Amino acid sequence: MRVSLVTSADCAAFGLEFFEALRYLSADNGGVSRGGYSAAEDAAHTLLANYASRNGLTVSIDEACNTWVELPGIDSSADAIVIGSHLDSVRQGGNYDGAAGVVGGLAMLFRLQDTTQLRRPVRLVAFRGEEAAWFGTCYIGSRALVGTLESEMLDAVSPEYRISLREALQEAGADLGPIEANTALSASKSIHQYFEMHIEQGPLLVAADCPVGVVTGIRGNYRYPAITWLGEAGHSGAVSRNLRHDAVLGATEWLTTVERLWIDEEVAGADLVVTAGIFSTDPMHHAVTRIPDSVRMSLDIRSVDVSTLQRVSEQAMELASQIASRRGLEVLVGERVDTEPASIDTDTVSMIYDTALGLGYPAMKLPSGAGHDAAALGAAGIPIGMIFVRNENGSHNAQEALDIDDFCVGVDVLTEVTKRAAQ
Ligand SMILES: [Zn+2]
Repeated sequence: MRVSLVTSADCAAFGLEFFEALRYLSADNGGVSRGGYSAAEDAAHTLLANYASRNGLTVSIDEACNTWVELPGIDSSADAIVIGSHLDSVRQGGNYDGAAGVVGGLAMLFRLQDTTQLRRPVRLVAFRGEEAAWFGTCYIGSRALVGTLESEMLDAVSPEYRISLREALQEAGADLGPIEANTALSASKSIHQYFEMHIEQGPLLVAADCPVGVVTGIRGNYRYPAITWLGEAGHSGAVSRNLRHDAVLGATEWLTTVERLWIDEEVAGADLVVTAGIFSTDPMHHAVTRIPDSVRMSLDIRSVDVSTLQRVSEQAMELASQIASRRGLEVLVGERVDTEPASIDTDTVSMIYDTALGLGYPAMKLPSGAGHDAAALGAAGIPIGMIFVRNENGSHNAQEALDIDDFCVGVDVLTEVTKRAAQ
């Protein structure tokens, strides 16, 4: 029997049923494990394809094994509106990260099928392997789609599966020709605009009591994974302050100075977050009574704006060398690893925001601190937009909690946004 999702109650019943089926197919010790290109991810894609084709929608699989579902438009030659997200998860992760956008996209297609005929075709894509947890590379399916999956990424061996990404793609039945040649797949042609609905992975929507959020941009990051501060060891009781070269005092002075820089940037209206997640003296040599001569630390600088990343990174490095030279220390900042931010144009942000308010739903604008498939498409020049749905307890853990009513609010907003974009 065909699924009809005209009312919110229909949407909630469908969502609960689909999420439960997904959980059943990939349950793992309280959470779910749907690894990229694994049997559990295959099963999730088959479930999607079966639901869609039973409902009279056309299903196809691209060369990277991403699943596509199409609702034809009045003008078959017009570029399509594409809705997407991913069906993989981290190990023992939550059931909604990624899946909420795919299930929501399918719910939207079922609703449109029964209510509206749009000028543009509308396509749903379920991407493969978005999580970096399995092969060390994120956005595998979406990068393959736009031709930006680099060959060294294909050589990466999964510690979990003990095979390379290239072998995993072959086993899944992918066509490696265009992927290895970095050629955009044919499914990536004729995309007018891409929208992604995703659970929020932070606490802002819960705190603001908003069921939905509009993403203003996807933060990129400049990461310094291995910074080393070097000083001079000595007896803690025997060296006066002015003769010390204490690596911990240098590194901590630097961090508090960087925090002041962060506050100044915030006051000036910039989007910025900074984290030193690794910070330690050498456990082989450190002691309560030893002046520390080395500190290993990391610095992760994130912003939606590439000029903020450049400015803050340059200033932070300049401050490090000033502090090091004043304290008689050496600072080795090591390699920097960059991921560019993905921008979302302000017209698209306003359109989604106005649509949510117009439907009577409280909404807020917020940046995305985590990466998404939308970033891979945005980097390839495809206009993107993103809707966040309220979710408790963050993500990448079994406690992710998406209220089904909030899921249905997300579907309502996604449907209206798609209608506007597909006219
Ligand atoms: Zn995700």
